[in-house]
Amino acid sequence: MTTIGVLGMQGAIREHVHMLEALGANTLVVRSVDDLNRIDGLVLPGGESTAMRRLLDRYELLEPLRENAELPMFGTCAGLILLATEVEGYDAHLRKIPMTVKRNAFGRQVDSFEVDLTVNGIDEAVEAVFIRAPQVASVEASVEVLAEVEEAIVAVRYDKYMACSFHPELTDDLSMHRYFLDMVEATKRQLA
Ligand code: GLN
Repeated sequence: MTTIGVLGMQGAIREHVHMLEALGANTLVVRSVDDLNRIDGLVLPGGESTAMRRLLDRYELLEPLRENAELPMFGTCAGLILLATEVEGYDAHLRKIPMTVKRNAFGRQVDSFEVDLTVNGIDEAVEAVFIRAPQVASVEASVEVLAEVEEAIVAVRYDKYMACSFHPELTDDLSMHRYFLDMVEATKRQLA
């Protein structure tokens, strides 16, 4: 059975656990290096990337996650920021996806909004909730752009990593999680 970890530092942890369990996955809230050995994939939830970074340092998880080259990861909102190799104006965190992100990029006037989004690889429109969301300012050519909102990149896939600047865990739409789970299972088969 596939076990998906949800990084348990801060943010929308429980919501991701519920979605993953609805899809039939085992879940584990990850708070230690040992936990990393017990999971097949890891979700990095939305919340506040600076707060998560402080906690990653405190729990001594930053380096182990940076060095781990096997674990598939899915970052939502602040989680997308954690996965970028460059963060405008800040030190980058896990540095998995070669892209530059800009925090709070939709501006104060549009603090939060909801759209039906077309995502490459998903048949039906995805219900996307944006809250003080980042944008992907640029990606390297090897990164697949999965979705855009008014020409701003809001979802990407690269190797065994995916990230979106919205919060699928705050809706009933399981499609992004299903996409990730399929990716994790494909990676598992390759490693087996
Ligand atoms: N604004 C947050 C940050 O920069 C992300 C917002 C979110 O995860 N909803 O980390």
